[in-house]
Amino acid sequence: MYYSDFQKYGKMLWDHQLIHMTSGNMSIRKGGTLYVTRTGSLLGALGGSDIVSVNAANTLRDKGASSETPVHRAIYLANPEVGSVVHAHPPYATALSWDFTVIKPMDSDSLYIPEVPVLTDCPYGEGSACIAEQFPKLLGDHKVAMIRGHGAFAVGKDLREAAGRISMMENQCRLLFLRRQLEK
Ligand SMILES: [Zn+2]
Repeated sequence: MYYSDFQKYGKMLWDHQLIHMTSGNMSIRKGGTLYVTRTGSLLGALGGSDIVSVNAANTLRDKGASSETPVHRAIYLANPEVGSVVHAHPPYATALSWDFTVIKPMDSDSLYIPEVPVLTDCPYGEGSACIAEQFPKLLGDHKVAMIRGHGAFAVGKDLREAAGRISMMENQCRLLFLRRQLEK
């Protein structure tokens, strides 16, 4: 029943080069259920069977769901108002994540996203326990945050708001990146 929104915003993430073919994942929370994209699914071409329902409170039905479902679940548990979580691999933001602990955009959209915290102290690993433990607290005051050298997670009331925040942040980071190039 929520398939059309997953399909729509997954395709937008792909069309705007915010993911590569098999990266990224998306979820929404409805009561005690999380609807999450299937592991290995192509967000740019999602089918109806690519959305998996899992328990919001435990891992009992996680089979088939995205490998980063534990991070999604931890974000929901720490932030009761969140209705959707989107994870993507935006290249400009990820490039900047190696050099900053907090990315501070300078363009007009900084009214909406004034800064983007970067999680720096977890080793690489999809859905790692370290990320699930450390990351949710970054998404209290902030609505989008980065994992160094990996990618972004954004939260929102729905998929449109969460995916839109990834898109806005990546555009901010592209501008910041270009400005840094001009300054050299
Ligand atoms: Zn990832």
